Order: sequence, then C-alpha cells, then structure tokens
Amino acid sequence: MTATLPTIKGKFGPYGGQFVPETLMPALAELEEAYETAKADLDFQARFEHLLKTYVGRPTPLTYAGRLTKHLGGAKIYIKREDLAHTGAHKINNALGQALLAQRMGKQRIVAETGAGQHGVGSATACALLGLECIVYMGDVDIARQRPNVFRMQLAGTEVRPVSSGSRTLKDAINEAIRDWVTNVETTHYLLGSVLGPHPYPTMVRDFQSVIGREARAQILEAEGRLPDLLIACVGGGSNAIGLFHSFIEDQGVEMLGVEAGGSGIQSGRHAARFAPPPANGETGVEAKLGVLHGTKSYVLQTPDGQIAETHSISAGLDYPSVGPEHAWLRDQERAGYTYATDDEALAGVKILSEMEGIIPALESAHAVAEVVKRAPAMPKDSIIIVNLSGRGDKDLDTIMRELGTGVS
Ligand SMILES: *Cc1c(COP(=O)(O)O)cnc(C)c1O
Repeated sequence: MTATLPTIKGKFGPYGGQFVPETLMPALAELEEAYETAKADLDFQARFEHLLKTYVGRPTPLTYAGRLTKHLGGAKIYIKREDLAHTGAHKINNALGQALLAQRMGKQRIVAETGAGQHGVGSATACALLGLECIVYMGDVDIARQRPNVFRMQLAGTEVRPVSSGSRTLKDAINEAIRDWVTNVETTHYLLGSVLGPHPYPTMVRDFQSVIGREARAQILEAEGRLPDLLIACVGGGSNAIGLFHSFIEDQGVEMLGVEAGGSGIQSGRHAARFAPPPANGETGVEAKLGVLHGTKSYVLQTPDGQIAETHSISAGLDYPSVGPEHAWLRDQERAGYTYATDDEALAGVKILSEMEGIIPALESAHAVAEVVKRAPAMPKDSIIIVNLSGRGDKDLDTIMRELGTGVS
C-alpha cells in the first residue's frame, strides 16, 4: 500500500490536504462529490435544518451570564448553549449531517471514532434515527473514563469496539476506524467527528457545525444590537470553535480565541496544547511541529525523534496530538489566537460556572470558561464575550467529584 498522495485539494494555506493510502482516494473523491451535490441541494439542506430544529432542539439558546459577569466585574458574558443540544454536546450537528449524507450515498454502515464519547453518542444517535448500522471505535482508557457514554451508544444499538493499541485514546481509535474504512469502503461511510482528517472532512464538518455561529450572531444582534468583542471556545480537533468562529471571520472587530488543553502544565510535557510555545529550556522534549496525522497536515505534538507524542488532558475530548488545519491557518494569519488552560484551571471553571449560573459544563468546555475568568475582568463593562459551551458536564461527574471532592464549598 503506497501512502500519502498530497494534492492541492482542501488546503488551508500550507495545511490540510489529502494524505491517505491510494486505496482511499476513490472514496474521498466520492465523498467530496456527494457533499458538493448535497450542499447545493435545497431538499437536503431543508431536511438537515428540519431535523436540527425538531430533533436536536435548535436553535440552542444564548444565555446572558449575569451573576458571572457581575462576579468578574468586566465584560458582559454570554453563553452559547450547545450543552442543551440533544445528547448534550455540539457533536450531534455534524453526526446528523454526515449520517444524512451517508444515507444519500447509499451507505448503510457507519464507522466512527470517539474520545470523550460525545461523538460516539452523536453518531449512535443519528444512526438510530436514520436506521443505519453503527460501529464506534474507542480507546480502552476513554472507555474507562466515559462509562455512561459507552452505555448510551450501546442502548442506541451501536457496537462499541475497544482499542488497546498505542495510548489507547482518541488517536488510536481514529487509526482503527480508518483501517475499518479502508477494508469496507464500498459499503461504509467514515463519520469523522471533528475538523480533522483528509479533505473534504475539515470543510464539511465545519459547514455542519457553522450553525452554532450563525445562530449566535443573530442572537447577539437581537440581544445587544451589535457584534461581540470576543469569542472563546475550547479546541480539541477544533469543530465547536470553528463552528462558532466561521460566521464572524469577516468581522475584523471580533476577536477569536481558542483554548487548548494545558493538562498538567506545559513544563510537564503532559498536555495537548499544540499551539503553546515549548518551555524555554526544552526540558520536556515534546514539541508541536508541522506533520501529517490521520490524512491531514497540521501541527502535531512530537517527541524529539519524531514520534507522535502521548498527550494528556483531564478532558478526553481535548486529548489529541494534532489540531484542525484551518485553525493552524487562522493562527498564521493572526485572525484567531490560541491559548491553553490546565486541568486545574478547567476544574475551577466547572466550579465557578456551576455556582454562579447553575450550569455544569463538560470538562472540555470548562477550558473555555477558564479563559473567560482570565479575560473578562480586564475588559470594559460594555464589552461582550460569547463563550461556546460545547457540552454539558453529566458525562464527567465521576471525574469532577473525584477531583473536587464531594464537599464542594
Ligand atoms: C469532542 C468535544 C470537544 C472537542 O472537540 P472539538 O472538535 O474541538 O469541538 C469539546 N467539547 C465537547 C463537549 C466535546 O464532546
């Protein structure tokens, strides 16, 4: 099997493209063609929008966080409530879009990967709704820390296949899903869960998630009569962030900030902050370099000898060594900025949002909340932040209780 045929397709500056075994090229071409046709098909779009409305529960609200705003004493804080989408996270938007596309392509079998389990649940749910067979690959480590989501997938009739290779997390689950797809490409659609992978995935997933920003834009205009000053979202692969950002990219006055997983801190080498500068003394050896992972070119956390680094985050959904190519491009152009929050800061984010607003965020989303806590106090009182709450924290309650203790004060 010869690897890696780079093409100019789906490039974001020097990033993106298609780096896959030759056996997958026809499948990617078929997918691209099907997606382009579906995008232009008003019936397909209407069906997608109808299900987003009547099944997912869209539009999700934009909630003014009055007590948190007062507590931090700066910018007005609005929360985009993807936690209120059916299945509790933004992942369902993309899962439903791709499942509809697979059905349109006549593919009855879906394979997917999952880290936090949210994309697995989204895929399992969309497949149950549309009557498609679904197999989800999931690392052993993630299965252990996301039990309730495993059961939810199984209840929806999905087969969850444990992956025990490598670091036994998301990266390894993607490897297995791709392997399955290569073998069964005639009958199978690979339902990729973020703005990663070879073209057309980063563009297609972004398009399916861009409903978040389209709604948020209309909602903030209605609430405040103007655009926000700052958008904040957590970045694993980057789909909830790009989903929020996309409708604002042309609005130069709107600053955009992505928050990666700082894990135990950059010094420790145990993190998933692909855009963070490495520690000055180079102590950890872990560094993000341009590389190819899972079919796309972007920043990839690597060891000094060029191996994919083992990443760490308290949140399974941010625990991935690479990042969507469009984010790398937005960063090069200085259109979006990227920072990170550590595990401890994310836990503090869970606590403050729960106490101040009665909203328990997913540990992933809590990274974005942590950045709001850092940024809002220094901003003028008439400025506006929209933070994307990518998911709800129910799936993380075990971890949160273990880390914070039950005597939450
Ligand atoms: C999967 C997940 C993420 C990270 O994925 P992105 O593609 O970066 O959005 C963030 N939040 C939640 C709740 C998730 O389930």
